[in-house]
Amino acid sequence: MNGNDNKLKMCTECGTQYPESHTDNTCIICEDERQAVPQSGQSWTSHEKLLEKHSVEIKKINDNLYEFVVNPRFSIGQRALFVISEDGNILWDCIPLLDEGVIEFIKSKGGLKTIAISHPHYYSIMKMWAETFTCKIYIHEKDKEWVVNGGNSVEYWKGDHMKLWNQIRLHNIGGHFDGSSVIEIPWMSEKGTLLIGDT
Ligand SMILES: [Zn+2]
Ligand SMILES: [Zn+2]
Repeated sequence: MNGNDNKLKMCTECGTQYPESHTDNTCIICEDERQAVPQSGQSWTSHEKLLEKHSVEIKKINDNLYEFVVNPRFSIGQRALFVISEDGNILWDCIPLLDEGVIEFIKSKGGLKTIAISHPHYYSIMKMWAETFTCKIYIHEKDKEWVVNGGNSVEYWKGDHMKLWNQIRLHNIGGHFDGSSVIEIPWMSEKGTLLIGDT
């Protein structure tokens, strides 16, 4: 994990981490009408501070699907879903915390091949996650303007859908954000499974 990123400022309200170059006191995600700046005003924390009193809770949903949430609840209560797949595991959406427990858990399941994110309310500390597991982050190009701290890990995809592996696909459905996407895993249940974030 990159120690410097640990200290970067993170929006307390939505968990988005900002690069050092961001010097003004606003969060573009919270200023947007789909989120909200708290009445008490914009405030910041850091991943380092968050680690002091929070941990990642891991819940099994089925043999190929686990849920990660920050406990106790932080920011907008994001959850990430960890999809275990033969040709590479996927993190669907992201959470603003990355602790040793979840890192070890993911390694024990074969690591992480990619991160894919439904929309900007989950960007949080995606750069730290991607750099920890040396993987890419798939984000639809229509949401490019909302990416504030992706580093070199973000890969923008275009069009209606994109194939990953093991028949898994991302679909751009728009709505909540222009780039809002869902992930389809046809073999996860009898009728197929769609993971949708809050889209
Ligand atoms: Zn924010
Ligand atoms: Zn949202």
